[in-house]
Amino acid sequence: MEVVKIRPRGYCHGVVEAIRALRLASEQHPDEPVVMLGHLVHNEHVTREFAERGVQLVDAPSRLEALEQVDRGTVVLTAHGVSPAVKARALAKGLNVVDATCTDVIRTHELVRRLSEDGYTIVYIGKAGHPEPEGVLGEAPEALHLVESVADVDRLEIDSQKLAVTNQTTLSVWDTQAIIARLQERFPNIEVHNEICNATQERQQAAVEAAASCDLVIVVGSSRSSNSQRLVQVVGDLAHRPAHLVDTAADLRPEWFQDVGRVGVTSGASTPTQITREVIAALEAMETPARAAVTAARAPSAPDSDSAGPG
Ligand code: SF4
Repeated sequence: MEVVKIRPRGYCHGVVEAIRALRLASEQHPDEPVVMLGHLVHNEHVTREFAERGVQLVDAPSRLEALEQVDRGTVVLTAHGVSPAVKARALAKGLNVVDATCTDVIRTHELVRRLSEDGYTIVYIGKAGHPEPEGVLGEAPEALHLVESVADVDRLEIDSQKLAVTNQTTLSVWDTQAIIARLQERFPNIEVHNEICNATQERQQAAVEAAASCDLVIVVGSSRSSNSQRLVQVVGDLAHRPAHLVDTAADLRPEWFQDVGRVGVTSGASTPTQITREVIAALEAMETPARAAVTAARAPSAPDSDSAGPG
């Protein structure tokens, strides 16, 4: 079985910077609590690594509720961003605040703030309950309407001459296009502001292109990770190939690889490089009928190297 290592994949700049900020905070404040407000990124391995460094995780249905569990020390705000109310409350509690919000998410916050100050009503396409929409909606709750589907658009009751639509950074173009098309039917003057981040777009594009020449794609990532789930979705919907999400190599099931000659591997923007490497190694070690035939027919060769790219 040939293993195709899809690039780009894995850690994006937002995740790299957030991990760096949390490491620095834990090194600079060894004698006081350092708390991660919600999962820094949606990956259990990253959370575990920080737990081993003594960093506490506080989680709750909302960031504001989570913050009520923190009384002292340093609080690190995650790459997903938080609402202004969360920042204000953290400062009012006298906490040392480290803001690890991704610069792409900050840009969405700034856009929403500017539009609402200019008198716009804003439709925001995102996933209810995810921390990123929670933070963005908190910028201007009175001006924003969260929608997840075309049906949500049909239920909107908006009476405004100035209307705009934007979206969560980790969605796919294919998630948003039907919703935006329906919005444009209902509100022909609506302004469209695409906020899908480059890292998400590039990983989705690469996965779809590579999947076309593969029999199967494995996405390494947590089931809590929005961008990992979207990778599975775009491979299925656009390349029409089966795709499975695995958290680690232990999740690989032999029955998936019957009659598979080429398997593509990609990973979500929050998946540690080491986990993806372990999955690739496990796939390369699989003795499928196709691999056994090739191995028998040729002399041993040098092993593949996985040198390039962060993840
Ligand atoms: S997926 Fe995009 S928005 Fe999210 S942290 Fe990475 S770069 Fe930032």
